Amino acid sequence: MKTRLSLLLAAATLALPAAAQKAAKPLNRPKLVVGIVVDQMRYDYLYRYWNKYGPGGFRRLLGEGFSYENAHYNYVPTYTGPGHASIYTGTTPSVHGIIGNNWLVREAGKGTYVTEDNTVQAVGGTAAAGQQSPRHMLTSTITDELRLATNFQSKVIGVCIKDRGSILPAGHSANAAYWYDGANGAFISSTFYMAALPEWARKFNAENRAARYLDKPWETLLPISQYTESTADDAPWEATFKGEAKPVFPHDLPALSGGLPTAARQNLEATGEKAPARNLDLIRSTPFGNSLTLDFALEALRAEQLGQRGTTDFLALSFSSTDYVGHQFGVNAIETEDTYLRLDRDLERLFTYLDKTLGRRQVLVFLSADHGAAHSPDFLRSQRIPAGSVGPRLLRDSLQQALVRRHGPGPWVLSYENQQVYLNRPLLQQKKLDLRTFQDEVADIMLNYAGVTRAITADDLQKSHWESGMLMYLENGYFPKRSGDVLIVLEPGWLESYQYPVNKGTTHGSAGNYDTHVPVVFWGWGVKAGKSSAPAKITDIAPTLARWLHIQEPDGCTGQPLAEVLGW
Ligand code: ZN
Ligand code: ZN
Repeated sequence: MKTRLSLLLAAATLALPAAAQKAAKPLNRPKLVVGIVVDQMRYDYLYRYWNKYGPGGFRRLLGEGFSYENAHYNYVPTYTGPGHASIYTGTTPSVHGIIGNNWLVREAGKGTYVTEDNTVQAVGGTAAAGQQSPRHMLTSTITDELRLATNFQSKVIGVCIKDRGSILPAGHSANAAYWYDGANGAFISSTFYMAALPEWARKFNAENRAARYLDKPWETLLPISQYTESTADDAPWEATFKGEAKPVFPHDLPALSGGLPTAARQNLEATGEKAPARNLDLIRSTPFGNSLTLDFALEALRAEQLGQRGTTDFLALSFSSTDYVGHQFGVNAIETEDTYLRLDRDLERLFTYLDKTLGRRQVLVFLSADHGAAHSPDFLRSQRIPAGSVGPRLLRDSLQQALVRRHGPGPWVLSYENQQVYLNRPLLQQKKLDLRTFQDEVADIMLNYAGVTRAITADDLQKSHWESGMLMYLENGYFPKRSGDVLIVLEPGWLESYQYPVNKGTTHGSAGNYDTHVPVVFWGWGVKAGKSSAPAKITDIAPTLARWLHIQEPDGCTGQPLAEVLGW
């Protein structure tokens, strides 16, 4: 029913010239924003498996969407926590404070985990998995800004199998963040968000889907002979699942997860006997962890009516099984290829759902990654390409011994993590040693170690500013109150190996292009198909979304809106 006032307004609008009529239109926003972050997805994975992708996943995204083909991270270290925080805050660790997945808290004399929060309780899971929140992140996110802009009418929900991949993107004012707890095979949350899981989430968890995915062996999606983009299945640098003789297909998930498949377990329990425990965490390191994540996200979309409530909602969805698989098997493995082919099918499932419920033009989607990954060093060396590894513990111990030789006994090195040395500052004070001189000395020592190409001190980083190059990467990743005293950079192709001198699988964290170059693709609402080779930074995603939504960019944002995809 039209009111007298609205009829008068309509009449007034009709009398206006065309440009003014356009301006008088109500503010137009997408019904839903879906942020997709694929954990450890290198840029080249968009094309490496192109011929095997189906029509409805990555190929549809690139065919209908706009791709920044030259988008990079602009800081080190390139890890999951910093990556997710930087995408959603539009800035670097130097501002948002998420300098790693773990770091040393000097005042406490111990480390912290990126989303650790002992002031909150688990909801739906175990204490260890559930005491998490975004409180270490020091700026607002684009998801926070959407909530603020709509006076909290927009719903924001984060979903990822990893806690940090859900919590950091969802921001501080989220309605909910959900992550996976392998102890009970459930998606859980914390009292930071809610007192109890909603009914739909409890129902989902009761279906034991994680266990059901593990009831079948992991076989390749296509006949294994077709995986010509990858090294033969049994490569010496691939790591096995625990309990597996060789890293080869089929991976016997029912046996590897221990105990009995779900049906047999239910039969046994029906007779009153207790079935042996099952390792439901195993699903993380299989492509089915992504499928499970999507199952849960689709249920969240449906039950929470995201995009169907008359205001713009935001689903922050991250797929992290790609990272677990990548770490275990490496870039060139059939397992990694198969995980992307299956993720492609899962993306098709998501896009089809969005088509049906809202329509592509009502949903704004972006897809990116929190970092890439290096090739396994042994694989590169087998092709005569320079690469290598350092042992983080060996580096730390060698430095400690060198300092004892020079300055006498004492625990000089408190910690070595994120390619940073934390010195024992109280000990230096006690021995009346100047911190800055000592940092310089440590940097000189570190430069002697194989694979170390740069070593720079915290003092240097605080006093200088770099607009480009390696030192800019270090400066952007440096947060004085949380970072170490000396930061090192490894040679290209080199990485840290915790089983040093053995190299199994691979990792990331460096400023190498394999770690910094990731996909940035927009699709859906307002997006014209296209490609750009213009330099883009990962921190540009959030301000681009802010322009599209006509809301404030996050409060610490240092990125710039991407003009080509916006078209204005
Ligand atoms: Zn990651
Ligand atoms: Zn990783």
